[in-house]
Amino acid sequence: MLKMRRARARFDALRRYIVDYASCRHMRNTANDLKTLAMSDKVNTLPFFYGNITREEAESFLKQGGNSDGLYLLRQSRSYLGGYALSVSYGRLYYHYTIERELSNTFAIAGGKSHRNPMDVIDYHSQESDGLICLLKKPLNRPKGMEPKVGPYEDLKEQLIRQYVKQKWNLQGAGLEQAIISQWPQLEKLIATTAHEKMAWYHGNITRDDCEPRLLMQPHSNGRFLIRQRDTNGSYALCLLHSGHVMHYRIDKDKTGKLSIPDGKKFDTLLQLVEHYSYKPDGLLGVLIEPCPRPEGQDPPPVPLHHPSQWQSSTSGIISRLKSYTFPKPGSKKDIPLRKTEITSCGFPKAKASSGTFIRGASKTESMPMDTEVYESPYADPDELRQTHVDRNHLILEDGELGSGNFGTVLKGIYKMTKTQKQVAVKILKNDDSNTAVRDEMLREAKVMQQLDNPYIVRMIGICEAESLMLVMELAELGPLHKFLHKNKHICMKNITELVHQVSMGMKYLEDNNFVHRDLAARNVLLVTQHYAKISDFGLSKAITEENNYYQAKGHGKWPVKWYAPECMNFFKFSCKSDVWSFGVLMWEAFTYGQKPYKGMKGNEVIQMIERGERMDAPPNCPPEIYELMKTCWTYKPQERPSFAVVEPRLRDYYYDISR
Ligand code: ATP
Repeated sequence: MLKMRRARARFDALRRYIVDYASCRHMRNTANDLKTLAMSDKVNTLPFFYGNITREEAESFLKQGGNSDGLYLLRQSRSYLGGYALSVSYGRLYYHYTIERELSNTFAIAGGKSHRNPMDVIDYHSQESDGLICLLKKPLNRPKGMEPKVGPYEDLKEQLIRQYVKQKWNLQGAGLEQAIISQWPQLEKLIATTAHEKMAWYHGNITRDDCEPRLLMQPHSNGRFLIRQRDTNGSYALCLLHSGHVMHYRIDKDKTGKLSIPDGKKFDTLLQLVEHYSYKPDGLLGVLIEPCPRPEGQDPPPVPLHHPSQWQSSTSGIISRLKSYTFPKPGSKKDIPLRKTEITSCGFPKAKASSGTFIRGASKTESMPMDTEVYESPYADPDELRQTHVDRNHLILEDGELGSGNFGTVLKGIYKMTKTQKQVAVKILKNDDSNTAVRDEMLREAKVMQQLDNPYIVRMIGICEAESLMLVMELAELGPLHKFLHKNKHICMKNITELVHQVSMGMKYLEDNNFVHRDLAARNVLLVTQHYAKISDFGLSKAITEENNYYQAKGHGKWPVKWYAPECMNFFKFSCKSDVWSFGVLMWEAFTYGQKPYKGMKGNEVIQMIERGERMDAPPNCPPEIYELMKTCWTYKPQERPSFAVVEPRLRDYYYDISR
């Protein structure tokens, strides 16, 4: 009991640290905004900085620039706020590296050396490849007359997303940060459809007569524009001042929700529409040049309940900054080639999770992890989960097994707490006298689990000693990843990438807190929904020390050899790097829709194959970026293998890219 209490205290300290760390980061980020702005001004003047262009546009520029080895350009990261991306050409292929802005306001390529600014990162990598595909040899300057591309609401977006997640799911600290990272593409889309309400040019529900004097203010300026709402069915008007007259263009929403001026190009959002017509007139009398600001003090239009624009915090600072925003000049937009990697279409069939799993009204099409009751920490309310002991009288076991193992069975249950009740999974030890080893193993597993608290890890609710020893855990009802994918082959690559990225986030948390999992495999990743994965099965896991960052096993055990790195088999050494190897195998399992790795081979044959330097082939239709990452995880020497601190952002970057 004392041990349990100590572990709980350690766990609380760990949790406090994470929350403090996250909120402190947020505060520092805000304080650093001005510094970063000054910094980004400097980057803006670099001739090889292209601003907010896509990965594909970067590749197209490099191609036009001759594709020589080491040719590079710098662009704004579309995934990391305040970060940059370096695109490099080598062997007629293109490599993209994120330069992250770190907490201390320094910059580094994920997992690499920190530098004062992005320019220093580039200088360094022109001397040392240090993980890059080659040395940076020649910068590719922007074509004459081209300015770095500016996204119309890039700086506004992150603030809106943060406010939205905070308010809608009542999250803070690490949970908030992790929600934003893992769901960024979905949140971005959600915000994009409503963010126009924060733009100075959006005047809400005003009449044609009210709008004209606003645009006709002296001095008359061709291209001055605003958008007003015509009705609540998604019809707007784009009002443009041209040669002293106000033109009113209707914007209608079609059945699929797309917005367009009659016979014009269709857009998902008003922001995209405004961006488009500020590049080219495309049927209008002129391009949109000068946003007509909404009069001071005019509130955004009334909106339905739970609408993002009801968030309470003030955005006046943002709005005033947007007022001074100048749109890019017409004709600066380039044609964008299609991606080389085609992603299969991605519908979101309904997950089979019971309705009880969702408590806060998940979206009809795609639920987010935060919509489930197992996203938020069960320890968030100490009145509910103060101790790890579960009273048998408060636990109801249901019929029907979720799964089984040599320890016994896993049943679904309900745990009645003081204020609420929770659906749980209960691992029940078989009652059998010869069972002490399995019992000890289960207690060891509980001891590890109670120290962990992350949305992408199955959390322990407690231990119950009654008719049997029972481990009560969060419920992940859709079961193991490999079985789910095997049965659901329609699931698209983007969805699989989303899930494996979540696993990498959970593993990064373990790495940060010095735990090795030692049994990472698709069978031990459980799904809460089709879009929410959690790492489970901590039976083999060990805490390691920071100095001695590996666990040395005393001898060979009943090991999942096909998932183990060479150093595990040869020297019985387990570290976060050997978990990275297993993660590569897990990715392979996921992208083959749950096939068995090294099918038909014996453990010894697999070891020999690895020692010969051979690796598994790419899964059919696997995106090359993903297979490259798998092979990097299967780097022979652990010291050369990336850590999760590197793997997670790479996967994140790729996931964000394909989600757009
Ligand atoms: P392994 O042999 O893979 O190491 P194990 O014997 O340690 O497994 P678990 O993996 O912990 O047992 O659980 C066995 C099965 O029970 C899982 O594959 C899964 O189907 C189900 N299960 C376990 N935990 C949960 C949970 N939290 N929510 C839902 N189902 C679960």
